[in-house]
Amino acid sequence: MYHGIGASKGYGIGRVTIYRDADLRYTPRSDCDAQTEKMRLNDALKLFFERNERLSERVRETAGESAAEIILGHMMMMKDPYMCSEIEKRIDAGQCAEAAVEAVCDLFIAMFSAVDDEMTKQRATDVRDIKSEMLALLLGVHTVDLSDLPKDTVLVAKELTPSMTACIDRKNVVGFITEVGSKTSHAAILARAMEIPAVLSVENATEKFKNNQLVIVDGIHGEILTDPEKGTVAAYVRLRMDFEKERAALEKFMGLETLTKDGEKVQLFANIGTPEDASQVIAYDGEGVGLFRTEFLFMDRSTMPDENEQFEAYKKALLIMKNKTVIIRTLDIGGDKEIPYLGLKKEENPFLGFRAVRYCLKNSEMYKTQLRALLRASAYGDLQIMIPLVTGVDEVRQVKTLIREIQAELDEKVIAYNKDLKIGVMIETPSAAILADVLAKEADFFSIGTNDLTGYTMAVDRGNADVAYLYSAFSPAVLRMIRHIISEGKKAGIPVGMCGEAAADPLLIPLLISFGLDEYSVNPTSLLATRREISRWSKQEADKIAESVMALETEKQIVSELSRYIHL
Ligand code: PEP
Ligand code: MG
Repeated sequence: MYHGIGASKGYGIGRVTIYRDADLRYTPRSDCDAQTEKMRLNDALKLFFERNERLSERVRETAGESAAEIILGHMMMMKDPYMCSEIEKRIDAGQCAEAAVEAVCDLFIAMFSAVDDEMTKQRATDVRDIKSEMLALLLGVHTVDLSDLPKDTVLVAKELTPSMTACIDRKNVVGFITEVGSKTSHAAILARAMEIPAVLSVENATEKFKNNQLVIVDGIHGEILTDPEKGTVAAYVRLRMDFEKERAALEKFMGLETLTKDGEKVQLFANIGTPEDASQVIAYDGEGVGLFRTEFLFMDRSTMPDENEQFEAYKKALLIMKNKTVIIRTLDIGGDKEIPYLGLKKEENPFLGFRAVRYCLKNSEMYKTQLRALLRASAYGDLQIMIPLVTGVDEVRQVKTLIREIQAELDEKVIAYNKDLKIGVMIETPSAAILADVLAKEADFFSIGTNDLTGYTMAVDRGNADVAYLYSAFSPAVLRMIRHIISEGKKAGIPVGMCGEAAADPLLIPLLISFGLDEYSVNPTSLLATRREISRWSKQEADKIAESVMALETEKQIVSELSRYIHL
């Protein structure tokens, strides 16, 4: 069995076709006639644009708008005036068109690859794709015809580029295996949009597998089984059937409002960690983003993202979400989220220490950079700011003071921002929960962070296996906290959401309906299942369950009582 990154869910059973890059070798020349080379370049460009225009249309139909935008992005890059003039300059200096295209593309690839940021690195992949396509057009070479593959093909390639993915006839391809790529790479987004199981980042995949070899691609666990026995194939056929049945059942919930059985509307949002994740929210029909964890923009790099880089990232998420609400949480570092270059001291109890809003308020210049980027981005959609790890009203007031200072600066410089910006509070400490009535006066909304709220309420360190049995959102104390927060939010007339993992738990959903939760924010892949769970209960039924459950005294009793109802 081989392992990789499960980037598109599902089970694919089929035979391998190995896709190798076309032979793009040529002999570079430096004594060419510039006019002839420019004509060859223009012919190739014409073909490039015609081909990509057709591809984008096709992808729009088969995989949706955001997938088509990737192809349009390639066309934009090839129209970039700097790129074009650099290619022409080299041709004027005597280079052949192939060498000029290759040299300029390599320049861009090196530039994008050097930036320590996933989004920019992705652009290097795009340029690599453009380079191969342009060279193939200039040299007149053809690669494996991806639009005419045998039935039940598992395509194995070094890299799955957008232009390759766009050619693929999805009826005949049942799986992808690649040597490079991550969950957020364009290839992964396209594979998910086409609903083809994919396992990426499998070392030497094009060498490991043989053409026509029978394989099973498990896109859920990121595994590949080779030459499986009959029994194994039969077991995976059953898994595939169950998966497809479930997917089809959930698909019925695409495009619907999120309603309880008796027609009460709630909002169904999703949690994201990068702006690109927003495409997944759209793909799974999320109605907004309930939590954008901005710390991911600060992680896995050696310096802090500056104001502009942050601004672009927030703006990108807003543009993808097209005027839908995007709740962006300010930096929540510390605890289990370490950022080495910030030089945080090692602490005895990091979860009780110098983290999140506590750190940000002490490092106000850094915090103001983030708040300024957020305010500037707020001109591009319904951005709302959320403050993490609040314990009292002072913290909220201090953040609001900083925001007012930035607003004054932006007014002075006549820079646009949303003057009606909403500022919400995450309720994830017992202190904030108990003070919900006080905080509700300062907050435009609440979002309950059950991941931390459970840990802090139960006084449990999640990393400590000896006490893990206490970590449950179904503990009576945690449930009472949740009920209290929602009730106080309601009394104050502000919406209350939940962005902790518990929001997607089918066992908890009837209780949340009864308590009157306004907004559920879950992983993008849990969106449709959550919409379905919500539709299963009327308020009256949910109230009946809540009444009996909330009278119970232990977590065990509560879970067993809820399980009884859920299985009804
Ligand atoms: C939470 O604590 O519930 C939450 C959503 O925040 P995080 O998991 O990022 O700490
Ligand atoms: Mg938290």
